[in-house]
Amino acid sequence: MLNASRLVEDPEDITSQNDYIAYSKVVHAYSPAIQKLLDLSVEYVPLAEEGFKAGRPAVWCVANSYQPALLYALGVIPVSYGELGRYSSKEDMLIAEDFYQFPVETCSMVKCSVAQWHKRLNSGTINRILGSSSSCEPFNLGFEIMRQRGYDVFHNEVIYRGPSVSGERLEQLVKFTIDQLLDVAEWLTGERAVDEEKLGQEVARKNRLLTKLKKILDLRRTRPFYMKSLATILTLNVGLNNYFGRPETFEATIDALIEELENTPVNEKDLAKVIPLVWAGGTGQEFGIYEAIDQAGGALLGLRSVPFRFYREDIPPLESVARWIYDNSTAGAGVYARNVLDSEVERLKARGVILYGYIGCSFASVDREMWRRFFHDKGLACINLEGSFQTGTPTGQVLTRVKAFVEMLAA
Ligand code: SF4
Repeated sequence: MLNASRLVEDPEDITSQNDYIAYSKVVHAYSPAIQKLLDLSVEYVPLAEEGFKAGRPAVWCVANSYQPALLYALGVIPVSYGELGRYSSKEDMLIAEDFYQFPVETCSMVKCSVAQWHKRLNSGTINRILGSSSSCEPFNLGFEIMRQRGYDVFHNEVIYRGPSVSGERLEQLVKFTIDQLLDVAEWLTGERAVDEEKLGQEVARKNRLLTKLKKILDLRRTRPFYMKSLATILTLNVGLNNYFGRPETFEATIDALIEELENTPVNEKDLAKVIPLVWAGGTGQEFGIYEAIDQAGGALLGLRSVPFRFYREDIPPLESVARWIYDNSTAGAGVYARNVLDSEVERLKARGVILYGYIGCSFASVDREMWRRFFHDKGLACINLEGSFQTGTPTGQVLTRVKAFVEMLAA
């Protein structure tokens, strides 16, 4: 089990990603709810792996997709492989590059996931991976390599909806996807069936939590410094999507946080000095960047990467999941995402936009450059950052750029 209780009171003492979380617990000493969320984050993967060894089904899966709702309904713990970056180091890069011969320029997210799975081979831990064919090609390659190495890997077919697809064509796609969901159930349980009552409960849980998290984001607008950037990102990214593997505990903690926020008076001085920012792109494991934003007086109030679409509860749950997938997978130019970003900027009266992606990801870098130019043309400050996914403090250059950017907005 990782040490969730190491006391880190000085940011200078931080040497790992878990140290950032430990330091964040000290910073949030006034909030039992945020401290609990940070603990849930640290304990998520180790507890799932320990539970698996003790006979509790678990599977590595995509973080923010339909998968957690379906997996919980099937009695399987979803374990986001995006969390593996937290345990990685330069050694993992070497495993990917030297042992598996990944080109050096391959995205670090893929390389560290492959290396972490490699280190777990034959260790008795979670040995199944539920991939997604909608992932990028480097990740598809990673999945296939892991299949060859002995993991039980399953993919859905590629699911995308062109912007103009509706009517009969959409209905065909929905039927096709329901079949795909049943394939997942069969792979995991041996039965080509999903308990629709349980899935309905998961759909309702997700909608309930989406509503609660929206409320928290609204409360943060008037209490911007109560929940800092790292705690917010961990809660939204993994908490909201996978519930850190413990749905009831997560929801109870979210309820406690709402109560804390509602009981915290609005501080006009904080509102006068806050620098509202919108974050777009990946939110990886470079926790030092979030710390740098906080230290410079910024507050990440808008996050474009978090899906906030509700599931329909007026139709059968399997159909609801299938329609949700198509509503979230509209193919098309990054201009659609840019429009969402733009409205978030307007709504929050953001003073700047931080665009973040991983070194080696050619897909996202094109979108980010397009968005940067769009906001620059509108006269809004925008910074385009590239970082790595694996553990390790961010480079000094990235931190200096972030601090300088936020301080420039404050000036
Ligand atoms: S960051 Fe880009 S290259 Fe890396 S896994 Fe994601 S889509 Fe693929």
